[in-house]
Amino acid sequence: MFFRRLTSVIAFCHLALMVPTNAQDIGRETAQDDFDLDRFAFAPGISVSPDIPTPESYLGYELGTQYTLYADVVGYIRAVTEASDRISMHEYARTYEDRPLHYLIITSPNNHARIETIRENNLKLADPSLSAAEASDLISSQPVIPWLSYNVHGNEPSSTEAAMQVIYQLAANQDAATLELLDAAVVIIDPTINPDGRDRYVYWYRSMQSHVLNQNRADIEHSEPWPGGRTNHYWFDLNRDWVWLVHPESRGRLEAYGNWLPQIHVDYHEQSANSNYFTMPGQTPRNLNLPDEYEPWAEVFGQANARAFDEAQINYFTRESFDFFYPGYGSSYPSNLGAIGMLAEQGGGSGSARAVETDDAVDWV
Ligand SMILES: [Zn+2]
Repeated sequence: MFFRRLTSVIAFCHLALMVPTNAQDIGRETAQDDFDLDRFAFAPGISVSPDIPTPESYLGYELGTQYTLYADVVGYIRAVTEASDRISMHEYARTYEDRPLHYLIITSPNNHARIETIRENNLKLADPSLSAAEASDLISSQPVIPWLSYNVHGNEPSSTEAAMQVIYQLAANQDAATLELLDAAVVIIDPTINPDGRDRYVYWYRSMQSHVLNQNRADIEHSEPWPGGRTNHYWFDLNRDWVWLVHPESRGRLEAYGNWLPQIHVDYHEQSANSNYFTMPGQTPRNLNLPDEYEPWAEVFGQANARAFDEAQINYFTRESFDFFYPGYGSSYPSNLGAIGMLAEQGGGSGSARAVETDDAVDWV
């Protein structure tokens, strides 16, 4: 039960990763005859608080129609934090290029009032000297803690856009399911792990983009130049640094992570534009150092995500392409610290820009 309540949290956040928002602007048929934009609507019909600024009202454009500069991402999140009693914002480090890194704590006002007790109790659960009865006692009064990490690869930019949508919905939604979720969970969000790489990509992309959507892969806006935005300032892949902590982004993040030790960690990425969506579990063989609990829980969350994709009639795959063997991934290192570490991938990458014609002629934005 402790983890099961979380499956809806994760499924909710995975669906919010999909941002093909302005496909209607492309103005042409797609290969999927039943392509229905309503399937991608965020929380349709849910009443929202007018006190929380929407991404569109702050940024001046609809999410998905532009890639957002990091300073504007931070500005929007700060504006939501100031308007909401569900969010607190915490700077945990600075990048080499002096960009601030933040994590957000999003939960009900009641949980915020006892947040330090929740954090300390959660750390007690990691104490091996705790008896089963004591652990069970603690769990009964504790919310679960999922930690969602976005945009470790800077030129896989859609996930930070999705993070803003998730933050908005968790702050603004007034429906019973969201209120229940905020009571049951303390959701920690890192909206951009690698802002130096993200801005390297976004500044370049904005300087090259056509003023109309351009799906042609031969156009320059689909050919990001070397060294690209995947890596940080020193061109190091931060999704290999979780275990070595060479860089300030990783050191700051792991110090913050160790102060919370969440039960769930989800790492959001983009893969080739010719792929659709990947969800857990990954391919075998797995690292034998992963705890025995890992496999069954990866299955539980993977199946929950699969059901959400099925309901939305969105293609996805699982059990191939992505391994959990190397311990320094954001999808595997947290699994050695007591969490179920998970990977989420959507079709895209810098080659897709804002819209691209894939090999099967389906347009993605
Ligand atoms: Zn990636």
